[in-house]
Amino acid sequence: MARINDNYLKLKAGYLFPEIGRRIKAFTEANPQAKVIRLGIGDVTRPLAPAVIEAFHRGVDDLTRVESFMGYGPEQGYDWLIDAIIDNAFKPRGVNLKRSEIFISDGSKCDCANILDIFDLGNKVAIGDPVYPVYNDTNVMVGRTGEADSRGYYEGIVYIPCTEENHFTPPIPQEKVDLIYLCFPNNPTGAVAGKEQLQQWVDYARTNEAVILFDAAYEAFITDPAIPHSIYEIPGAETCAIEFRSFSKTAGFTGVRCAFTVVPEALRARNAQGEPVALNQLWNRRQATKFNGVSYPVQRAAAAVYSPEGWRQNQEIIDYYMENARLIREGLEDAGVTCFGGTNAPYIWLTTPAGLSSWDFFDQLLNECHVVGTPGSGFGPSGEGYFRLSAFGQRENVSEAVSRIRKNLA
Ligand SMILES: *Cc1c(COP(=O)(O)O)cnc(C)c1O
Repeated sequence: MARINDNYLKLKAGYLFPEIGRRIKAFTEANPQAKVIRLGIGDVTRPLAPAVIEAFHRGVDDLTRVESFMGYGPEQGYDWLIDAIIDNAFKPRGVNLKRSEIFISDGSKCDCANILDIFDLGNKVAIGDPVYPVYNDTNVMVGRTGEADSRGYYEGIVYIPCTEENHFTPPIPQEKVDLIYLCFPNNPTGAVAGKEQLQQWVDYARTNEAVILFDAAYEAFITDPAIPHSIYEIPGAETCAIEFRSFSKTAGFTGVRCAFTVVPEALRARNAQGEPVALNQLWNRRQATKFNGVSYPVQRAAAAVYSPEGWRQNQEIIDYYMENARLIREGLEDAGVTCFGGTNAPYIWLTTPAGLSSWDFFDQLLNECHVVGTPGSGFGPSGEGYFRLSAFGQRENVSEAVSRIRKNLA
């Protein structure tokens, strides 16, 4: 009989969202008249910008005619999309990238996972706590860890607690690590990192020959002009960092699927003989072998995000979500709740009132306010005592949820 990859058996069953679903189901069955408002899930609700939809349609129409039909495209993505990204997302921030350094994909989740293909299992990995679970679970799947302990920490991974004391930004580890996941603006905490902080990480990575895996899925939600949108705004980062970007949250592409990964040509890591090898070549080989590119109309739609109308329309959508974030944060702060995030990120991370556990507060909100959020403990042990609310809902629902919570806590 064939053998399985036993590493999969080390994973704890997907617990967080199924458990949330189970509790909502039990509640709505017992209270069929209650209008439950969901501020839990990290998915967008606004439709695509009109200019993006038009480009998407035109892309489909191109496929209807022999003259403009498109089959397989380049595995790395079309140059017109890559150029739009270079000129609009990076050049204005003083970052000069080459076409060959950008790889278009169908999602950052898969890129964050697939990147492990090009790194040796012996690398020591550092992960924040709480964290986007993909970073942790994909390292378990490839076999870089032992078993999980009772808290859910896997043997072999260096976890860096992100707490109120360190403003939910991971401090530089004491020990030497080889791969470091950083996510700013952060999911789940909404924390951001300034230039000095990122410079410390870049300096650490260069000193220790480590590689930073920088997830910038929420960069478009940054409102403070002093906060970098890209790790490459930090001098030296092009020699020590890979950056993941996605159109999912920034342009409503969660269901459309388009993202990209930046692997600078100057970035190197060592082979078994100790010789430096360009990671760009390895990622290019990996993508060309295992991936056949993103759908042509989808890339047309993504390029339209950078058109003048597309950009303006999309900014209105981002502003809508950030106004939701403000309503949630200020509403809850008025009610005496300690809130973090929500100013440069679409997530509000709050301290559970009266020292409740994350799940007890979840039950209180569900049962008494009919509002669903996400228990912080679901993102890692250091999330216990915290709770995440998402700003991606419809305005009426957000306002209604905030007023219910305020009445409940008054
Ligand atoms: C939503 C999200 C992504 C984006 O994933 P896609 O696969 O591009 O939809 C990446 N990182 C984090 C932390 C996210 O929350």
